Amino acid sequence: MSTRGVIARQKGDSFEGRYHHWDSYPTALGKALWELAHNQFRDNLDEMLRILIDEHPAGWSTIVNKDFSLGVGFNNLDKGNCLTCGKPSWEHYYQEWESHGKRLTPKARQSMANGNYVALGHSFEAPHSTNVECYCHGDRSEDELLVTEKNAADIGCEYVYVFSTNGVMTILSSFNGDGSKMIGMFGMGNPEAKWGVLTVVPLDGPEPDWHSLQGW
Ligand SMILES: [Zn+2]
Ligand SMILES: [Zn+2]
Repeated sequence: MSTRGVIARQKGDSFEGRYHHWDSYPTALGKALWELAHNQFRDNLDEMLRILIDEHPAGWSTIVNKDFSLGVGFNNLDKGNCLTCGKPSWEHYYQEWESHGKRLTPKARQSMANGNYVALGHSFEAPHSTNVECYCHGDRSEDELLVTEKNAADIGCEYVYVFSTNGVMTILSSFNGDGSKMIGMFGMGNPEAKWGVLTVVPLDGPEPDWHSLQGW
C-alpha cells in the first residue's frame, strides 16, 4: 500500500529528511525504524541517520521488510536471472543483444522492424528482491528531495518520523479536517501547522504497541 512518509531529523521546531513511499504507517515503517535502530545500527543513531538521510538524498521506495545487509539500490533488473527461463534480463530483449555481444539474427531484425523487441516470448521476470530500495542508487538515479514541514503534506506524506539528538523518535501525523485535533509540533502550537504529534518514542524505552498508533 502506498502510504507516504518522511524519515527526518528535528531542525529547530521543524524537521528535515527524506521521502519514504510504501507502508509508512507506524506498524510498518515505525516498527522498521525501531528495529533498525536497535539491531543493524546497534543504538548508533547518528550512523543510522547518516545512511537513511544523508547517503540517499532522493529518498526511499521502501525499507520495510528489507535487509540492509544485502546492500541498497533500486531493484536492479540486471541482477539475478529470470524466474521463468533462468536467463539474464538482456537476453529477453532484442535491442539489448548487441551491447551484450550477441549478434542479431535475421529473425531478430525482422521482429524489431515490426516493433516487437521481446526475444524469448516473454518479458523478464525478476526474482523477488529483499534489498532496501532507494531512488538514488541502482536503477534509479533521481535528484535530491529535501522534505520539510513545508512540502511534506503537499507530496502526500501522512506520517513523519522525526529523530532528535537526545534519542527520541517523534511520530507526526497529518490531521485532516477538525483543527481541534491538532497538537502543535514539538509544542510550538503553530495554527498553520499541518502536523500533529501522534506519539513520542524514547529509543531507550520499551517498544511501543504499534497497532495502537494507527492514528485514524
Ligand atoms: Zn525469461
Ligand atoms: Zn540511494
